[in-house]
Amino acid sequence: MMVATLVASTALGQQPARHQQVLQLVEEHSAHFSATSKTIWDYAELGYHEEKSSSLLRRELEAAGFRVQSTVADEPTAFVATYGQGEPVIGILGEFDALPGLSQAATPDRSPVVANAPGHACGHNLLGSGAALAAVALKEYMERNHVTGTLRYFGTPAEEGGDGKVYMLRAGLFRDVDVVLQWHPASENVVANGGMLAMNSARFLFHGVAAHAAMAPERGRSALDAVMLMGTGIEYLREHVASNSRIHYIITNGGAAPNVVPDTAELYLYARNPSLPVLAEVWNRILKIGQGAALMTETTLDVKDIGGTANVLPNDALAKVAQRNLEEVGGFRYSAEERHFAEQLQKSLPAGGAGDLDSTALIQPLRRPDPNAAAASTDVGDVSWNIPTIGFETATFVPGVVAHTWQAAASAGMSIGQKGMIVAAKALAITGADLFADRQLVLDAKADFQQQLKGRTYVSAIPVGQIPPLNYRDK
Ligand SMILES: [Zn+2]
Ligand SMILES: [Zn+2]
Repeated sequence: MMVATLVASTALGQQPARHQQVLQLVEEHSAHFSATSKTIWDYAELGYHEEKSSSLLRRELEAAGFRVQSTVADEPTAFVATYGQGEPVIGILGEFDALPGLSQAATPDRSPVVANAPGHACGHNLLGSGAALAAVALKEYMERNHVTGTLRYFGTPAEEGGDGKVYMLRAGLFRDVDVVLQWHPASENVVANGGMLAMNSARFLFHGVAAHAAMAPERGRSALDAVMLMGTGIEYLREHVASNSRIHYIITNGGAAPNVVPDTAELYLYARNPSLPVLAEVWNRILKIGQGAALMTETTLDVKDIGGTANVLPNDALAKVAQRNLEEVGGFRYSAEERHFAEQLQKSLPAGGAGDLDSTALIQPLRRPDPNAAAASTDVGDVSWNIPTIGFETATFVPGVVAHTWQAAASAGMSIGQKGMIVAAKALAITGADLFADRQLVLDAKADFQQQLKGRTYVSAIPVGQIPPLNYRDK
């Protein structure tokens, strides 16, 4: 607590004059974009179906003076909003897709708005709106001060398993971008400098021969048997992969009736590792297990909807600036009402899972994520392998709450989430202003990026030429 306070006051003393102006502009637009985040939270649209959410953000940015290019990269809900011209080109990422089955009212107990409907349990309603708030404030600052450079807001759909950004990268939309800024909702305020797991995903669809399961089983070739054998193979594989790997799957089709030998069955699998090359090796072995299961059962195998995202590369040059700026912005405190909400909500967390409610006021020290720590995956990773990228996480979720839970959806739909969003927007906007003001920062970020790559090349698991899986949520 003492350390964080001390750091914050030192940083305040060195605060560049431009920050004051940018922070003021973010404040002015905060209420408006908090309302935007609530509207998108209400829409709760799934990946590649975010028509209303995407259209709302496009309208906001257009009204603020951005030039908007809609339906880019063969993704109907993807867009790019641009302001200004010339170098440097600074990008800000926005997401707005929800998660299936996590509909939840903004209440501290489990209470779906609509049973089994989607909900914003990853806080992407805040993510897209907070990024737009930062972009609009930064644009006004640039305009008033005749700042040269290009500011781009990337409306990136289907982060949750649809790999929206990968297709936007392939379409060349990031080609001229010098630095990318991003943020993600979380339960603490911290600079996100790299981390996350590289991930591959696919549906393993087996085709067999249907038969009466009692009268003529010998005529049948069971696709379900292949799915079960593939699952068994994966369980044996688990022992012989790097221990920081994650492999998880569900059976999305296991046949229609016990008395019919299933002629189709499907296993949907994700595999993850902090390292792209290690993951590629694990993935090849998973493919072999699928082929082996098909061979054993005399079925055939289609590997469909291959998805893939990279781990996020750190950028220490950008992280230093981001840390200074996040400390300058500082955290926030709950009102009495919010505190009551948070205390109620924490009662639903597992024993020992509740975090310190005062921690929302703190900024965590700059750290490199532990490559062996539990983590998720994001298509921001692919962006970070192509353009110097830095991110923020802010305490939009009640401390102790993890993303992809109803508790996260509840937090994201009320003032607690919005307060965290405003912290992120401020940190993004002043960092953007610094990058426009100081070309050396951009050069340092690029040098650090080259250092991080160290001759490694970015390879996506998604086959070249594959089109965005616009209906991946419909199956
Ligand atoms: Zn998520
Ligand atoms: Zn997310």
